Amino acid sequence: MTALVIDGKKIAQQLRNDLAQEVKSYSKRPYLAVVWVGDNEASGVYVRNKQKAALETGINCKIYHLAEHTPEQEIISLVQKLNRNSAVDGIIVQLPLPKHVNTRKILETIYSSKDVDAFKAVKVGELWKNIARWSSATPEGVICLLKMVCPSLAGKHAVVIGRSDIVGKPMAAMLLNEDCTVTMTHSKTVDLPTITKMADILVVACGSPKLVKKNWVKKGAVVIDVGISKVDGKLVGDVDFDEVKEVASALTPVPGGVGPMTIAMLLKNTVEAMKKRRKL
Ligand code: NAP
Repeated sequence: MTALVIDGKKIAQQLRNDLAQEVKSYSKRPYLAVVWVGDNEASGVYVRNKQKAALETGINCKIYHLAEHTPEQEIISLVQKLNRNSAVDGIIVQLPLPKHVNTRKILETIYSSKDVDAFKAVKVGELWKNIARWSSATPEGVICLLKMVCPSLAGKHAVVIGRSDIVGKPMAAMLLNEDCTVTMTHSKTVDLPTITKMADILVVACGSPKLVKKNWVKKGAVVIDVGISKVDGKLVGDVDFDEVKEVASALTPVPGGVGPMTIAMLLKNTVEAMKKRRKL
């Protein structure tokens, strides 16, 4: 068996084209504010990519760049100002924040109605109650890719590797909301390959390059690789792609799989936030 390679780049582009058409139909362009503190090189690439994608989709996007040593209170004041600004539809704070800053405190300052990353506790609660209008972008992107290859997810056994707040936990909630039977695993899980081998759907988000091997995967499983690591200057996922493509029925590549979907979903969330606030 050779797995279908799921082309996240193409699917994300299609979603962004559709979104651009939708945005054109509104009298006002949505507005995304991106708060970036410090000079982390990778963060700089991410915020500029988000801005470029937003502008291409017809979404206004401004980056608010603060110096590395900006006091916590100043960052909070900026977020509060953006909260009060009725022109702003969505606010994201690029992570990681510098060490002297309490990340949770900053994220909780964002109004729920503008929290397009859905990292606030209340948004997490909405997701688990299955009443969220939008949720965390990366796992949303994964669900979208899964539905492309597996129209009904109900009853499938989904195994998630990783339990972070931004990927693993919301991923598990979304799969549960799709009526999957979900198993969450992490670094303390005993005999991980035995568990992953039972999965119809395997979502891997642990940041451990090429961890998942061919003998970890059930024949015909759908495997989604969220991981991104740099090894010898090359981007590598958490799945050994060349091995696993021999047993999986469908598989995402790295790069070009989940990554592009994350930005597409963030833009979708921004449009959703605008529609909700403006009752469109
Ligand atoms: P994270 O916060 O570091 O969490 C990693 C999780 O994986 C933790 O729950 C950890 O377990 C678990 N883990 C680590 N090594 C493991 C192992 N050998 N076996 C089983 N579980 C293991 O990372 P994250 O933010 O979730 O990101 C995960 C990966 O996805 C990273 O490579 C990141 O770059 C990538 N990512 C990609 C996108 C995208 O758009 N494509 C977006 C976000 C993240 P413990 O909880 O026990 O420590």
